[in-house]
Amino acid sequence: MARVAFIGLGNMGGGMAANLARAGHDVRAFDLSAEALDRAKKAGCLPAASAAEAVEGAEAIITMLPAGAHVASTYAEAVFGHAAPSAILIDCSTIDVATARQLSADAAAKGLAAVDAPVSGGIAAANGGTLTFMVGGTEAGFAQAQPFLEEMGKAVIHAGASGAGQAVKMCNNLILAGTMLATCEGLALAEKLGLDLQVFFDIASKATAQSWSLNTYCPVPGVGPESPADRGYEGGFAAALMLKDLRLAMAAAAEAGAAVPLGTHATDRYAAFTDAGHGSVDFSGIIKTL
Ligand code: NAD
Repeated sequence: MARVAFIGLGNMGGGMAANLARAGHDVRAFDLSAEALDRAKKAGCLPAASAAEAVEGAEAIITMLPAGAHVASTYAEAVFGHAAPSAILIDCSTIDVATARQLSADAAAKGLAAVDAPVSGGIAAANGGTLTFMVGGTEAGFAQAQPFLEEMGKAVIHAGASGAGQAVKMCNNLILAGTMLATCEGLALAEKLGLDLQVFFDIASKATAQSWSLNTYCPVPGVGPESPADRGYEGGFAAALMLKDLRLAMAAAAEAGAAVPLGTHATDRYAAFTDAGHGSVDFSGIIKTL
């Protein structure tokens, strides 16, 4: 078992660090929030007084932070200059592709291996150890990170070179936003046309309209498998996080010169929904605006 530094013990990181501790690793945890640190201690982690203290002597250094700026400042202040030369740096946060590539290059210049490893799956998957990790980095970096990621997830996939994990994540969520909005519109129209929505679901979910948004995560209560719609649109993937990912996708598209008309529209729709005070509502709750 290894010594692991875990920085960022929020909704996602708290459960992930707990799973590493449960697997027998010596987890040195740090978060700016005292409550988060306390929860990590109760879950079997050893709280550190600073990020740098957590990093000292760790074989793997895992970050699960809000955005690229937080990861960049943590790397600059607490990881570079403190990490052991043999350590693997694993950033599981969802951040922009450009920052992910830059941090990996900065690490390499200091002789450190780094991968970007964002996740698919929400808080329940983080707690249950069933996340999917999409990993960007070298073959050697992937091999070094894999055993740690496997303790926290059900799938660990090497997506390509540095930044590829973040690129997969944002393209995936761009498609997800589009299928959710299209599914909401189709269901709203079906209702206005007088259809029984269960009958419509039974047909469309086996026909060419099928998708994860319809089949697994149907945005109408009482139709399809249980989903956040059946819980008042609570406890799923917050609209504000979908907006964050869409904005990252829009920035990546602008940099790559890719046309994303539907993504632009989806970003506007989720921005309006969030501005109207629904940022914490599950992203399928946008059906209520139709
Ligand atoms: P969160 O806000 O619950 O947790 C972030 C934690 O980081 C907080 O506890 C905060 O105190 C801590 N933090 C911030 N700056 C810090 C610093 N400099 N040093 C130490 N700790 C610091 O966020 P979350 O929901 O856990 O999300 C974390 C990441 O995972 C984000 O990048 C998010 O986009 C991504 N993500 C979230 C979900 C989800 O469903 N919540 C799903 C997939 C991916």
